This record gives sequence, C-alpha cells and structure tokens, in this order.
Amino acid sequence: MDGDPDLCIGGAWRHACDGGTRDIINPANGAVAAVVDEATPQDALDAVAAARVAFDQGGWRATSVAERSALLHRIADLLQRDKEDLARLETVDTGKTLAESRIDIDDVTSVFRYYANLVASEAERVVDAGDPAVISRVIREPIGVCVLIAPWNYPLLQMSWKVAPALAAGCTMVAKPSEVTPLSTIAFAKLLDEAGVPPGVVNLIQGSGATLGPALTDNPQVDFISFTGGLATGRTIARTAAEHVTKVALELGGKNPHLVFADIRDAGRESGWDAAVDHVLTGVFLHSGQVCSAGTRLIIEESIADEFVADLAARAATIRMGDGLDPASETGPLVSAQHRDKVESYVRLGISEGAQLIAGGCRPEDPVLAGGYFYRPTIFDRCDRSMRIVQEETFGPILTVERFTDEAEAVTLGNDTEYGLAAGVRTTDTARGERVVRALRHGTVWLNDFGYYTAAAEWGGFGRSGNGRELGPTGLAEYQEIKHIWHNTAPAAAGWFTG
Ligand code: NAP
Repeated sequence: MDGDPDLCIGGAWRHACDGGTRDIINPANGAVAAVVDEATPQDALDAVAAARVAFDQGGWRATSVAERSALLHRIADLLQRDKEDLARLETVDTGKTLAESRIDIDDVTSVFRYYANLVASEAERVVDAGDPAVISRVIREPIGVCVLIAPWNYPLLQMSWKVAPALAAGCTMVAKPSEVTPLSTIAFAKLLDEAGVPPGVVNLIQGSGATLGPALTDNPQVDFISFTGGLATGRTIARTAAEHVTKVALELGGKNPHLVFADIRDAGRESGWDAAVDHVLTGVFLHSGQVCSAGTRLIIEESIADEFVADLAARAATIRMGDGLDPASETGPLVSAQHRDKVESYVRLGISEGAQLIAGGCRPEDPVLAGGYFYRPTIFDRCDRSMRIVQEETFGPILTVERFTDEAEAVTLGNDTEYGLAAGVRTTDTARGERVVRALRHGTVWLNDFGYYTAAAEWGGFGRSGNGRELGPTGLAEYQEIKHIWHNTAPAAAGWFTG
C-alpha cells in the first residue's frame, strides 16, 4: 500500500516473488487508491508450506484455550483502536458508506469477542463406555492448515468469520482476500502481528483467485478450505479439493425472497406498512445490492401490491448516491466497472424477458458521479419465476416483484430458488408467521425484520447457497477435528484368540 511489502508468509512480510503488483481502484471515482503486491502461485505454495510447518512444528496448536482466548480479546481491542482507519480503507476499497464500514468493524470485533468467550468455555465430553474401568472422552482438536478465501463485498467481515474461529480452534491458515478489495485485510494482518499471533500461524496472500486457486485448493498440505463467494467458484473449489478429500465449507450466493402479506395494514401505518416498505427497500438496496442475503425478490399479496410497489418506487428514487466517504451518501457505487457491466446486462435481460421496469434501470445523471461505478436502484414489477432475472443472483441494486393470492402460493414462490441463504416474512398474524418461517427452506429467516445477524447464531445456506455454517458454535466446530479417546485403566487380555 505504501511501498511496504503486503504478503505475509511464515511471519515475514515480503513482496511477490516476481515483483508483481496490482492497482486497487476506488469505485467511487475510478482513481487508483493503492498499489499492492500481487502474489504468484509460488507465493501461495510458500504460504501453505509455512502454515503447514507452523501447525506441525510450532507450538500454536498446543496452546491452552485460555491463551488463545486472551489473544482473541487483544485482537478485538486493537480492532476498536484502529476502527476508523480500517473503516476508511473498507470504504475506499468497496465503495460502501463509512457508516456501513464502521458497523462492519464493530461486527468484526464482536466475532473475535464471541469466539474468545466460546472457546474459553469449551469442555471435553465424557461418555459412558459401559465399563467402569474405561474412561471414554470426546475431545476437539484443531483441524490443521486452513485456506480462507473471502469475497469483495464484506472483505474484512467475511474474513473475520473465518480467522476468528480458526485461531480459537488452534489452526494455522492462509488468508486470501479478493484481488479487488485487499486493503483492510492487509492492515488487519499487521494488527495480528502486533497482537502477538505467532509467525506462520496467519499467512496472507492476495492476488487473482483464478491464478492462485490451484496452489491453494489442489494441495494435499491443506486440511480445510473455507470459501465465501460465488456458486461457480465454489463448484470449482469443491471439485478440486475432492481429489485430496480435503474438507470444504462453502458460503455461496443467494436469491432471497421477502414475503409481504396484506395484513401488515392491521399494525397501523408506522409499524406495519411504512416499516415494511422501509425494510424491503433497505433489504435490497443497502450497499447497492451487493449483499449475499439481499432481499432481491419481493413476493407480495396481490391485494396490496400496486400501492406497496408504488411507495417503494417513490422511495427508491430518493436514495442519495455518492462517495461513501461523504456523510450525505446513503449508498455507494458498485465495486468495479466490470461488475456494473454485469448488472446492466441483467437489466437488459429483465426488459427482454418482459418484466416491467418501474424504477432506475440506468446510471445516475449527476455528473459528479460520472467517474464512479454508480447504478440507480432498480425495480422490475410483473415478474414471474420463469424469468432469469428472478432466478439468478444479479448482485446489484435490482428488485423483482412477484404477486401471490394465498399463503401456500407465497411459500411455494419463496422456496422456488436453487439457493436458500435467507428470506424475510412480514405479517401481523403470529401463527401465520411461525408457519411460514418454518416452511421456508433458507438458512436465515427474518420475521418482521430484515438483514440482521449475530455472531452467536449460525449463518449459512440451504441448497446451492452452500454446505457449511459460519458463526455460532458450529462456526467453531468447522475448524475442529473430533477425537474419541478410550482409556482402559485396568488393561487385561482380550481373550478372543485362545491359541
Ligand atoms: P467469487 O468471484 O467467487 O470470488 C470469491 C473469492 O474466491 C475471491 O477471493 C476470488 O479471488 C476467489 N477465487 C476466484 N476464483 C478462484 C479459484 N478458482 N480458486 C480459488 N479462489 C478463487 O465471488 P465474489 O464475486 O468475490 O463475491 C460475490 C459472491 O459471494 C456472491 O455470489 C455472493 O452472494 C457471495 N457471498 C456469499 C456470502 C455468504 O455468506 N453466503 C457472503 C458474501 C458473499 P479474486 O477476487 O481474486 O478473483
């Protein structure tokens, strides 16, 4: 970032072995925000080898849970000390507003605190072996060398969901942020050094996933791969890792339904209708829709659809776009020119499929925004589930609207996706709410709310949204092997073979 080396391998900071670098672009204005080292496959192999040595020969895996817990708390303290700097890096790199970035850093801190406390309270399980002379225990050990691959939309947040439990479990690791947004993770790795993470425990490389992928995933020295990103990449990684029977956890995309029932009127204007409009709007357009759990499919009861969608479109038109560093901005740009091209191609597709464009569908006209990769909040009404715009993850500020006439149809539509990451339900009928949240096949379901999560509750997807869980106790268990120890305190001959 500043001419200093950006790769951390075996405790040493170094440049890429071929001297390669990459320009990091600020999506709000298209300017080069930083130049960082771009790792080569050899750097990636070195990083995995360093993590292997640190796991097999270092003392990290044998540290007490108390020591690891204390380290995680120290990291949390440093994250709060550096909160403002980290938040600014996140905003410059991703385009999201500074307010969102600050929340991200607080959330990252909470994840470290949560795992610091959880691991400190872990106890082995004693089971009844059926013989009083036998002490039978089930213990958890670190899984080993982990490869942690994160996407660009929540760079440090997604990485922290991996690094915190991996450290808590006693693993060593290679962290690879997205090539597009590595800045906060580089700063974070320096902070880990300061906190006292031993050399080789956390190795950092950044660079093109396609180039580095084979060294990280087609590698028998790796015990576990935790990947967050798109479905196509997840498939490639799972296929590659299968060759070595390497455990893989996949956190993939989503096409998340938000079901709105007509009874929201019963709760009164403010907490019923207005709150629903507001949550649907925020659920899809926050961070310009670049959120895996964005509520991109509004599924609404026919009797209120016209009025509700008109209110939504009016509010969408007033969303203030701008540089995330400007406190007046309510949402920032898309992450890159290439990604905006993809979003624009989906808008063209929606129109050609016959969806009715009722908001956005274009870049903003404001000349101040012309240098950035901005795209206006877009709504397509009169959609149906045969449309690709309804089924595929656009990962941009695009909402599609489908209508239903009864509860069964709402649930059928809500489950009609290959994904299953998240869903929202809005109703004032408590019994209906409980029925519908149970019927929906998604990893997180919000009832009369949208978008929130906590480090204490598991996060992950049904269907093609993935196959693992992050956060919560399961998020730690992903980084642990389970061992059964059978200890016979009164050994005697088995007496099976008598000859
Ligand atoms: P992506 O293109 O799949 O990339 C994700 C990460 O994988 C990046 O670090 C990327 O590196 C790397 N990568 C690419 N090809 C690889 C390969 N062959 N081997 C190993 N690594 C490889 O996804 P993205 O565009 O960054 O992120 C958006 C996607 O992430 C969306 O689908 C979104 O829904 C999903 N997501 C899911 C969650 C969740 O919790 N389920 C959370 C956030 C995002 P480069 O960037 O260097 O190419």
